[in-house]
Amino acid sequence: MPSARNLSEIFIQTLEQAADSVVVIDSSNNVLLFNRAAEQLWGLDRTSVIGHNVKLLVPQDIRAHHDDYIEANRRTGINKIVGSSRTLHIERADGTQRWASMSISKIEADDEVLYTAFVKDITAQHLQNEQLRLLSLVVDRTDNAILITDAPGEVIYTNSGFSHLFGYSAEHAINKRPANLLAPYMPPDEVLGMHTQLAAGQPYSSETLIYCADGQRIWCHVTINPIFDAQGVLSNTVAMFTDITHTKMHEVLNNRMLEAIVREDPLESLMEKACREVERIAPEITTSILGVSTNGRLHPLAAPSLPASFSEALEGLAIGPGVGSCGTAAYLGESVLVTDIANDPLWADFKALALPIGLRSCWSTPIKDSTGRVLGTFAFYYREPRGPSAFHRRLLDVIVHLCSLALQREESRSKIRQLAFYDSLTNLPNRSLLHARADQALAEAERNKSQLSVLFVDLDRFKQVNDSLGHPAGDELLRVVAQRLSVNRRSSDIVGRLSGDEFVLVLPHCDSAHVTEVVEQLRQTLSEPCQLAGSTLCPSASIGISLFPGDGHDMGTLIHRADMAMYQAKSLGRGRFSFFSHELNQLAQERLALETALREALETQQLRLHYQPQVRMQDGLLYGVEALARWHHPLFGDISPARFIPLAEECGLINQLGLWAVREACRQLAAWRRQGLKIPAISVNLSPTNFHNLDLPGMIASTLQQHNLEAGDLTLEITENVVMDTNPATMKTLHEVHAQGVRLSLDDFGTGYSSLSYLRRLPIQELKLDQSFVNDLEEDATNRALSEAVILLGESLHLTVVAEGIESIGQQRILKDQGYHVAQGYLFSRPLNAADLEAWLSTAVKN
Ligand code: C2E
Ligand code: MG
Ligand code: MG
Repeated sequence: MPSARNLSEIFIQTLEQAADSVVVIDSSNNVLLFNRAAEQLWGLDRTSVIGHNVKLLVPQDIRAHHDDYIEANRRTGINKIVGSSRTLHIERADGTQRWASMSISKIEADDEVLYTAFVKDITAQHLQNEQLRLLSLVVDRTDNAILITDAPGEVIYTNSGFSHLFGYSAEHAINKRPANLLAPYMPPDEVLGMHTQLAAGQPYSSETLIYCADGQRIWCHVTINPIFDAQGVLSNTVAMFTDITHTKMHEVLNNRMLEAIVREDPLESLMEKACREVERIAPEITTSILGVSTNGRLHPLAAPSLPASFSEALEGLAIGPGVGSCGTAAYLGESVLVTDIANDPLWADFKALALPIGLRSCWSTPIKDSTGRVLGTFAFYYREPRGPSAFHRRLLDVIVHLCSLALQREESRSKIRQLAFYDSLTNLPNRSLLHARADQALAEAERNKSQLSVLFVDLDRFKQVNDSLGHPAGDELLRVVAQRLSVNRRSSDIVGRLSGDEFVLVLPHCDSAHVTEVVEQLRQTLSEPCQLAGSTLCPSASIGISLFPGDGHDMGTLIHRADMAMYQAKSLGRGRFSFFSHELNQLAQERLALETALREALETQQLRLHYQPQVRMQDGLLYGVEALARWHHPLFGDISPARFIPLAEECGLINQLGLWAVREACRQLAAWRRQGLKIPAISVNLSPTNFHNLDLPGMIASTLQQHNLEAGDLTLEITENVVMDTNPATMKTLHEVHAQGVRLSLDDFGTGYSSLSYLRRLPIQELKLDQSFVNDLEEDATNRALSEAVILLGESLHLTVVAEGIESIGQQRILKDQGYHVAQGYLFSRPLNAADLEAWLSTAVKN
């Protein structure tokens, strides 16, 4: 039997070799024994431990108080430590961590008290426990929803995130099939596919719309993992749901909208898309988007589910503090919610629009640009009194952002368009826009077979203005000219600035005659004096003209030729114009010269009247004389009325000419009467334009009075064109003149195209058969039939019928036989000046 000493040695030996760590300390806490296992656990050599205070084995942060701690324990109830096991945290010498389970026994020997600690390394187990603890924390605290099903696929567990996210309590979910509960509209083959995949041991994941307890939908990312038991049979599935509504909404809307924005879809189609996407995601919403213009007016952009009349009623409405939800939201720059349209004062003026189509509440939010300016509004309408849900708010955030992008793009696009296509100095279309529009106009002219004129306008002495008055004055001159070129233009006309002082006008439906008038008008408008840098200046320009189709078929050629013509004009001196085509140019230049001369002729009394006698068929007595205008120009010689009368029409001198003719004829008739000549009446030709003048009747009356003449002494000859004249003054003037007792004669009868019914509407007393019928009366039976018809018609209307242009006795006989009342023509006399007429009268009277 071993001695007591041996025993304690054996005991010590045993402790030294024990698999668990053993630490023995005395009552002063100094280490007496530190076995091999302890050396390994702490990573310390026993020589550095034995004889030292045991506190070097505890973590740094509690070392300082360790003695006090042990002391307190020993005093107050050390037994709680001794005998029970507790977990120990060990900081090893190499810095790594271990966890151990420790139990302490107290050994009292002789007068000594020793404490033995048995320490077992439980690091692996501790870590596992810790992971489990954290895991359960995660499962319970997470926002994600987790559900576990059993083998038959029914719910056996849901975490708190599940109830939180979907609104279903755990009790409600238990024993239900997840797909039935959360995705009732999931197609059955998709559900089957999911089960097959899980049974095959593959995790399943998808993005699905989940229906919540309150009927809301949220987008979830779902991952389902299958769990198999030891026998390899599916025992559970664990499903985790993450709310991705926001991301998904972004993704779906962003993808569709941004794609469309990048595709440069037009704004209307973008806005409609935005509405449709929102209504697809949330079918309970009806949407509308209104634009807000810079002057604070609403303009409907899209409302695909609302009747057109709804949007039309809002067009142009001014925003303001009581203008529905949208007008108010735009005005305040913040969202406006009206939960009950029927009773909210904001909707007082508009509820009649909304209620009949079932809209009961409206939430409108301003769409702003990056600086906060309101560009539009996005409205969510509901069919019941309510406000937006959290889901709706999120949806709105996303869509409003996208709409703002689209509206801002539109704004910058129009700014870019302005910069790209308009000249910034004059705001006129620049070369590219000019060409684009001109090409369109040209295509149209080609289609309609109409004529088109191109004017190349180049300022005269522009460089001089720049050099002498400075560039700002030069710029100002260009602006003035641009404005002057643009006034009085028809909406189809195109005015553009090519570069520097070069402008181009493209005038559709404009032939050579009309363009000459336009050029005249332009030259006058341009030359009005203007103030530049303190000086008065009369701008002038040289203008070149080319015509479609004569001078070219494409804009490049037409502009180039107009440019060439402009150079030609410039070479003639400033302020001139020139046609590209030589013949046209000559004609136009002559016309211009003639126009100037005619103006002068009227002012200087160069015109004369000649008189052609009209005789009665019956007895050869004088019926009257027709006054015919004559113009002898000192340089150009005799100019036919067939030439200068139309010219006077075109350049606005006809009124003046007509008034002159009436006065001159009356003066002459009065003079003859004073001389005792018996001239029954005088006829004066007037153009339809003369009857636009409402002063004509008054002027005629005062002229007759001035010369002591009767109204019946004067006959006015008008042509059939007067009937086609749409000017409302014409008929009024005609009737007034007639009412005074002045006779009216319809000249050149038979050459017009109007119907005969107008004859009854015109207050005429005389008809003049056109001389073209008289011409070959003797040879042509048709003409005879026509002249016969005219006299019959005239007689049936009780009119005096005059045949003019009679040159032969044969003609005279036929017409006389047919019953014509009055004859006029070379056979009797050519038109004569006053003196010659007097002579003719004396011979005629003799005869
Ligand atoms: P109209 O009023 O039909 O005048 C008759 C024209 O026939 C005159 O031509 C006259 O000289 C011409 N004539 C007369 N008898 C004969 C004949 O036997 N044979 C031929 N071949 N011709 C004959 P004229 O003077 O050259 O005037 C041409 C037209 O100019 C006139 O046709 C009239 O429409 C217009 N006209 C002339 N003077 C005036 C005027 O003062 N004012 C306006 N508005 N028009 C005028
Ligand atoms: Mg006449
Ligand atoms: Mg005539």
